[in-house]
Amino acid sequence: MAERLDIVIAGGGPVGAAFALGLRDSGFTVMLLEARGPGAAVEDQRSIALSHGSGLILERLGVWSALATAAIPIHRIIISQQHSFGRTELSADEASVPALGYVAGYTALQHALAGALEQSTVCVRAGCAVRAISGDANVAVATVDAAGTQQQLAARLIAIADGGAQLNSAHVKTRDYRQSALVCDVVSEQPHQNRAFERFTPEGPLALLPTARGWSLVWTAQPEHAQQLAVLDDAEFCQRLQVTFGSAVGAFIAAGRRQVLPLALKYATQPVAPRTLLIGNAAQTLHPVAGQGFNLGLRDAWELARAIIAHGESDPGGSELLNEYFSQRRLDRTATILFTDSLIRLFCKDIPLLNSARGFGLAALGAIPPAKNFLVRRMMFGARG
Ligand SMILES: Cc1cc2nc3c(=O)[nH]c(=O)nc-3n(C[C@H](O)[C@H](O)[C@H](O)COP(=O)(O)OP(=O)(O)OC[C@H]3O[C@@H](n4cnc5c(N)ncnc54)[C@H](O)[C@@H]3O)c2cc1C
Repeated sequence: MAERLDIVIAGGGPVGAAFALGLRDSGFTVMLLEARGPGAAVEDQRSIALSHGSGLILERLGVWSALATAAIPIHRIIISQQHSFGRTELSADEASVPALGYVAGYTALQHALAGALEQSTVCVRAGCAVRAISGDANVAVATVDAAGTQQQLAARLIAIADGGAQLNSAHVKTRDYRQSALVCDVVSEQPHQNRAFERFTPEGPLALLPTARGWSLVWTAQPEHAQQLAVLDDAEFCQRLQVTFGSAVGAFIAAGRRQVLPLALKYATQPVAPRTLLIGNAAQTLHPVAGQGFNLGLRDAWELARAIIAHGESDPGGSELLNEYFSQRRLDRTATILFTDSLIRLFCKDIPLLNSARGFGLAALGAIPPAKNFLVRRMMFGARG
């Protein structure tokens, strides 16, 4: 066996990269393996709403200064539903924070993390696809394909952060929402004024996040409908968007390249195995409603790195450490899965009586400070806020 390391991370997406950065001063030998080739562009249209808590973690990871200039602060979040009354608004002023969160492009986030990794002692190998992982009480082994050549790497811990590509279906629960997310940039007559919108429709939520160019749109719809919307000409697309979203930001006047992504809830029932564990989307892939997935994955990465460092120079992949880490993550993980799943089950049904009940619910949420406070803290910090 050629190389023996302390920690191998399979997947250099934002969660794997953040975990690697969290370990940069740990004294352990850390290798990050990413399937994408060296210098290959990250082609992803999505923007990520980073919670206030994620901003704090990225600051501690030394990434925030590179991201902050491009990230747009969210001062207000406006939640409403189509075909019914009821609306609530969360504001940074009311929460006494400078921003409820920040919006950054997935690509910009990846670049900022990669830039920080370049300055660290973490060994990053691009163009390395992990094909198989096994582990026992003593060692974990990754079989890696690098430009057609197979190699084995042994480590005391392998963290799987491949976004879900490796999830073993025997230990995964799945709910197919029969929804796809159409993602693209749009421009409206009115400037964003640091507002973000979440509008529930019978087919799924529609979110507008403020960006430097205008808005980043995540429009959830039935898969066939999302595909139809994706091929409309820009004028027709803007018109359909207007009908669904309404006039809160004036007329939509331009739309960028569209990307359609299938949506499902997937979570591993056993994210920890001997000397291996799953983090980020590999452990749980959520519906993008309320922008929780990366924020939860980043907390996975941060808490795991902290648990390993707090353990000192001893074994970073021992079962006691991994099980303790997982039991500490359980509440945040379960509550976030339930939160996003319940929003979809509750809001994405077009039943008149239910529409009215939700309308009253949204109106009441705005009028009951403790309920509103709960929601604000959940959006800012997750279940432990
Ligand atoms: C439309 C949409 C909007 C979203 N908006 C938000 C939001 O506003 N806020 C939020 O918090 N979350 C949001 N999310 C969720 C967020 O995008 C994910 O939670 C986040 O990208 C997960 O990061 P990750 O690193 O775990 O996985 P990924 O981003 O999927 O990265 C996985 C990485 O692993 C690499 N890889 C895959 N297989 C292998 C292999 N075999 N070997 C080596 N490398 C491999 C991939 O190339 C990739 O770089 C959204 C999701 C969607 C679909």
